[in-house]
Amino acid sequence: MTEPREITRRSPLTGQSATMELTATPAQWAELEAPRHTRRNIQLIVPTWTPEQREFYMTGYTAADWEAVFPPEDQDNPPEGWEECGCCSCYHPPEFTGDCRDDSNRWPFTPERIDPGANLETER
Ligand SMILES: [Zn+2]
Repeated sequence: MTEPREITRRSPLTGQSATMELTATPAQWAELEAPRHTRRNIQLIVPTWTPEQREFYMTGYTAADWEAVFPPEDQDNPPEGWEECGCCSCYHPPEFTGDCRDDSNRWPFTPERIDPGANLETER
């Protein structure tokens, strides 16, 4: 016997409340509501929930919040405004100067594309 419940959480990111219907057995609900130090990991309590459902129950973050925080990497286009680099043929943020190997300042994020013999300091 499972028991659906409407769970309402406020997103720590947007401050907006959202409601999700989650289903668990009464025993699972009881354990979910037990004090955190007395219950098992949520993945063990409700293994059938998706990671999004568990995250929402635990923290209030929705899947849309996660996409906003960690956007899926765009494999087809460089981030807007980034400029193609003459030394490593990757893209860097506008006005970027520094080491082309710096992953956070490079698109695509694939080190293989850098010629090992290239001069990896941008010059502007
Ligand atoms: Zn470069």
